[in-house]
Amino acid sequence: MHSSPHESAPAAVIVGASHAGSQLAVHLRKSGWEGRIVLIGEERWLPYHRPPLSKAVITGAREPDAIQLRPEVMYQNNQIELHLQTHVDSILSNERRILLSTGEALHYDVLALCTGAAPIRLPLGDGLDGVCYLRSMDDVLAIRDRLPQVKQAVIVGAGYIGLEAAAALQQQGIDVTVLERADRVLKRVTGEQVSRYFEQLHQHHGVSIHCGVEVTGINGQGQVDSVTCADGSEYPAQLVIIGVGVSPQTALAESAGLRIENGICVDEYGQSSDQHIFAAGDCASHPSIRYQRRLRLESVQNANDQSRVIALNMVARQQGREPDEIYNALPWFWSDQFDIKLQSAGLHEGHDRTDLDGTLDPVEKGGFVVRYFKGEKLIAADCVNRPKDFMAIKTALAD
Ligand code: FAD
Repeated sequence: MHSSPHESAPAAVIVGASHAGSQLAVHLRKSGWEGRIVLIGEERWLPYHRPPLSKAVITGAREPDAIQLRPEVMYQNNQIELHLQTHVDSILSNERRILLSTGEALHYDVLALCTGAAPIRLPLGDGLDGVCYLRSMDDVLAIRDRLPQVKQAVIVGAGYIGLEAAAALQQQGIDVTVLERADRVLKRVTGEQVSRYFEQLHQHHGVSIHCGVEVTGINGQGQVDSVTCADGSEYPAQLVIIGVGVSPQTALAESAGLRIENGICVDEYGQSSDQHIFAAGDCASHPSIRYQRRLRLESVQNANDQSRVIALNMVARQQGREPDEIYNALPWFWSDQFDIKLQSAGLHEGHDRTDLDGTLDPVEKGGFVVRYFKGEKLIAADCVNRPKDFMAIKTALAD
């Protein structure tokens, strides 16, 4: 915990010290916030990049210290008071105070909730050793410790995190089976061609993928030993990673009586239903001008860009001005699996036509681009191993 020279100055308090929270703290200072900036997170690690967890950290190719978002001295140099291993228990919004797990209460002038999202838990395999979720550094270190005893792993859920974990474990010589309820992998986030490509890519590397199956049992005594499905199939496993999606962490916002709508409901300025409380990142849903609907995005791009916008609006609120910086950035995302990099720009929902440039053959290293059109308009693209195309499309879509 670092003390501040601004003890009696206005306080910006940020809950959640990850992508959104730490970016916000830095941008608040850059945007001219002259008072205290207090950044509170419940994890024991300095704020870190979450994406490498399911890529290089799970295999041991990178260590925790190598994935810090910023060095510790940066927080000191910017007079950002960083409180780690501290949970914020509740918000007393009438008094503009928060209550901490340390028993302390803290006043805020403006509060930002960057509480992120937490894995959706299945009511299966509870308490069995070897049944894991993958969200935090501690989650992934626990998985990593276990790997030397693992010959077979089952991944429940074929979203990005499930497939990245599958690729990483298969490359460690583990036999990996992926079980997915939907009829194709990545169904929530991409079109059919790209789903088919990833299925074939994984099969090419020896991962066994089963779609359209319902996991009904995660079994064992003390230690997990198998997973069973509704169709009677059974898969032996010494490790099960459940990656069936996340839900926004809204308990704190609810304690303040804030409006919740698939996450903390904010306006285009990132302001919640309380004008002294803002929210950004995975926990917040915002009205998108670009897509003409409310969106809650789960990506580093969204956490970073939304935080930059709310930093300006928090400064405005503190200076007695109305927030006027609108969040309308183009969504983009990436995923690394085996030796390929997927980069996606825009949202493909509502497309009526696709255009494939390249080949979907997983052995082919030249990559491809799938463009998604609505009428004549390009609305999104998925690029595999085509970084230049991705940059050009991202620029075009952002205009
Ligand atoms: P989070 O990173 O979830 O951080 C929220 C923080 O708030 C957490 O540390 C939490 O412990 C803390 N917190 C919550 N409540 C409290 C409280 N009451 N008191 C104190 N602290 C609290 N995105 C990409 O764009 N590309 C990728 O390749 C990619 N890969 C990923 C791989 C993995 C394994 C995971 C888990 C995510 C990945 N993502 C990726 C998604 C990306 O990491 C998230 O979108 C991003 O972390 C969101 O940042 P955030 O700050 O909003 O929330």
